[in-house]
Amino acid sequence: MQKNYVIGFPRIGEKRELKKVLEKYWSKQTDFNEVKYVGEQLRKRHWNYQKEAKIEFISSNDFSYYDNMLDTSILLGAIPKRFENLKDEELYFAMARGNETSVAMEMTKWFNTNYHYIVPEISKDTKFKLNSKKVIEEYKEACELGIKTKINLIGAITYLGLSKSVDNSDVYLHINSVVEVYKELLEEISKLDNEIVVQFDEPLFVKDLDSKILSLIKPVYDVLANVSPNIKIVVTTYFEHSNEATKILVNTPIWALGLDFIHGNKNFEALEFIKNSNKVLIAGVIDGRNVWKSNFEEKIKLLEKISEVVSKENIIVGTSCSLLHVPFTLNYEENLDKEIKSWLAFANEKLKELSLISKQFFDFKLNLEETATIKRNIEDNNQRKISSKIHNIKIQEELKNLKVFERVDKFQDRIKVQREFFRYDFLTTTTIGSFPQTPEIRENRKNYKANLISKEEYEAQIKKYIDDCVAFQDEIGLDILVHGEPERNDMVEYFGELMDGFAFTQNAWVQSYGSRCVKPPLIYGDVNRENPMTVEWIKYAQSKTKKVMKGMLTGPVTILNWSFVRDDMPRNEVAKQIALAINKEVDDLQNAGIKMIQVDEAAFKEGYPLRIENIKAYEKWAVENFRLSVSCAKANTQIHTHMCYSEFNDIIKTIEAMDADVISIETARSGNRLLRIFKEVAYKQEIGPGIYDIHSPRVPSVEEMVKQIKALIEVLPKEQLWINPDCGLKTRKWPEVKQSLKNMVEAVNIVKAEI
Ligand code: GLN
Ligand code: ZN
Repeated sequence: MQKNYVIGFPRIGEKRELKKVLEKYWSKQTDFNEVKYVGEQLRKRHWNYQKEAKIEFISSNDFSYYDNMLDTSILLGAIPKRFENLKDEELYFAMARGNETSVAMEMTKWFNTNYHYIVPEISKDTKFKLNSKKVIEEYKEACELGIKTKINLIGAITYLGLSKSVDNSDVYLHINSVVEVYKELLEEISKLDNEIVVQFDEPLFVKDLDSKILSLIKPVYDVLANVSPNIKIVVTTYFEHSNEATKILVNTPIWALGLDFIHGNKNFEALEFIKNSNKVLIAGVIDGRNVWKSNFEEKIKLLEKISEVVSKENIIVGTSCSLLHVPFTLNYEENLDKEIKSWLAFANEKLKELSLISKQFFDFKLNLEETATIKRNIEDNNQRKISSKIHNIKIQEELKNLKVFERVDKFQDRIKVQREFFRYDFLTTTTIGSFPQTPEIRENRKNYKANLISKEEYEAQIKKYIDDCVAFQDEIGLDILVHGEPERNDMVEYFGELMDGFAFTQNAWVQSYGSRCVKPPLIYGDVNRENPMTVEWIKYAQSKTKKVMKGMLTGPVTILNWSFVRDDMPRNEVAKQIALAINKEVDDLQNAGIKMIQVDEAAFKEGYPLRIENIKAYEKWAVENFRLSVSCAKANTQIHTHMCYSEFNDIIKTIEAMDADVISIETARSGNRLLRIFKEVAYKQEIGPGIYDIHSPRVPSVEEMVKQIKALIEVLPKEQLWINPDCGLKTRKWPEVKQSLKNMVEAVNIVKAEI
C-alpha cells in the first residue's frame, strides 16, 4: 500500500461527454437512459485511471449529474415545496434548472473557486429523511469493478452552513436531524463491507467561524464517528487552513483529518495537536487548484517537514482538494508549445505524481521507469526556472524602474476638466461594452482561426458589425458609444492572445456549473504587451461617429483571477505585469484621441481571500494594480470601470480607492437598495447603476425604467449618476437589445424633462 489519497476526481469527462449528453437530453434529443449510460462509463473510466495510477484511496459518490450539493439535498430529502410533486430525474433537473412552473434553486460560487453549487433551501419546516440510494449504489458499482472506494459525503455543518434559510430561521436548528439521517446512512454503509472509509468534506471550517458553529463540531463528529466500529471517518477541509476546527476534531473519535498544505500553510500550526491525538493526517500536497507540474524535490521536503511532527506511519499523501478544479489530461494538447507542456500536470498527470511522490516518501523501492520519471521531473522543473520563455528582462527592468503608480491629478480636479471636455450634464447614457455576439460573428472568427478566410475578409466583417453597431447607437440617441466588441471571443482570452506570457489550450476544460465548463488561459511567463491590442478597432469606431467613443479594456485583477497563474511568482507581481501592459494600452488609446476608457474588473471580488486575516493584503495589491493600470491617464481622460456585482457593502471603501472616475455596477434586480451604501459612505466618484437586467431576454418597458431611474435619483444626486444596463449585451439577441436600449433612452428623456 502506497498510502495515497485523492479527495475527489472531476466528472464532466475528458471530452466533456457528460456535458454533451446532458445537453442532448435537455433538448429532448435523447432520453435519460443515455445519460445514465454515459455516467456509468465515466465513473468506470475515472475509477480505472486512479486504480492504474496505484491510488489507494479512490472516491465514490464524487460523481454527480449536476452538482454534489444538489445531490446532498436529494440525499437528505431537503426538497423545496415547489418541487414536491416531481420525482427522479425530473425532480433533480427541475431543482437545478427550473421548469415551466417553478424557478430553479439558486446557484453560487463554491468558496473561492469558479465552481458553482446549487444552494440548499431550508425553512423551519424542512423535514430531513434518508431519500436516495445513490451513495450505496455507486459504492457497489465500484465493488463490482473490483475497486473498493471510500465514500465521499458533504459534511453536515458545511451543508447547512451553505444553505439559505427561506424564512429567516436558523439553518442550524436542523443539525440534529441532518446528523440523524447521516447516522442512518452510515448504518447502511457499515453493512457493505468489514471496513469502510467515509470522507466528510467540511470546507466551511476554513472560514472564520463563530463560536456557535465551532461548538457543533464535537457533538456532530462524536456521534458520526461512533455509529459503527467498522467505519473510519475522515474529515477534509481545503482551500485554507482550518486550525480552529482541527483542534476540536482531534478530540473526537474520527480516524483521519485531510488538510490542505498548498493553500493552507498555517495548517502547520495545528500539527502538534494531530500528533498528540495520534490521528491519521491526509497531507494535501498535490495542488488541486493549479496546473503546474509538481516539483518532486519540494514536495518531498514539504512532507519531510510535516513528518518532523506527525510520524510517518500516521501520514497519507493526498491532493490538496478535489481535482474537480483542474482539467483532465494533457493528452489532447497537440498545439501547446512542447516546452510549456513539459511544465504542466492536469488531473490524470497529478494522479501519477501523487502515486510516485508517496512511493518515494515512504521509501518504497522505485523501478527504473519511476526513477527516470523523477529525474525528468527535476530536469523539467530546472529547465522551467531558466527558460527564456518565462523571463523577459526588459519587462522586469521596466517594473523595477516604475516611478508613477497612480494618476497624478486628484478626482475632484479631474472631474472638472472632464466635464468641461466631454460636456455631459447628468443621467448620461451608455452601455457596458459588448453587443450581441451573432452566429455570423462567431462563424467569421472561426473561419479566420481555421485559415479559411483572409485577414482582410475577417476584418471587413468586423468593420461591418462596428458600422451597424455605431449607427444604431447614434440613431437611438445614446450619449457615449462603444464599438460592441465583435472582435473578442472572451474578455480575458482576447487580451491574453495578444500578450506574451499567456498560453491557450485546446481541451483544458474545468466544470463551472452543471454542464458548463470554462477553459482558462495559462499565465506561464512574464507578461508583455508589445503592440497595441485595441487601438485600431476603437479608432475605427470613433471615425464613424461625432459622439464620444469609449475604449474597452479588461483590468489586471480580472485577467489574473480568470486564469491559471504561474506558481513561481507571487500573484500580486503577476498582476503588476498585467497592469503595466494595460497601462501601455491606456496610453496608446488616449494618444489616439480616445479619451474615455473603461477598464473592466468583473472578477475583482472573486479574488477575495476566504480568511479575514488575508483580506487587507489582497485589497491593497488589487487596488494598487488597478491604479497602476490607469496611472498614465491624463486629467481629461476619463477612466471607467465595471463590476458585475450588486453587493458592495463590505468593499465600498476599496472600490472607492480604485479611484475610477465612473463605475458601472449591477443593480437592476434590487431597485435602489444597493445604491444606498454609496450614499452612506459619501462615495466620491460617479456611478452607473444598471437599470435593467441583461440576463433575461425580457424587454423592460419605458415605464418600468422610468420608475427605476426615479428610484435611483432618490438616493444619489442626478449629477453623480450615469444610466446603463447591468452588464454587457453579448449573450442577448439584437431585437431585444434594440428595443431595450431604445426604451432606456426614452425613459431617461422622460425623467430629464420632468426634473
Ligand atoms: N465589457 C464587457 C462586456 O460588455 C464586460 C463584461 C463583464 O462585465 N463580464 O461584455
Ligand atoms: Zn458585467
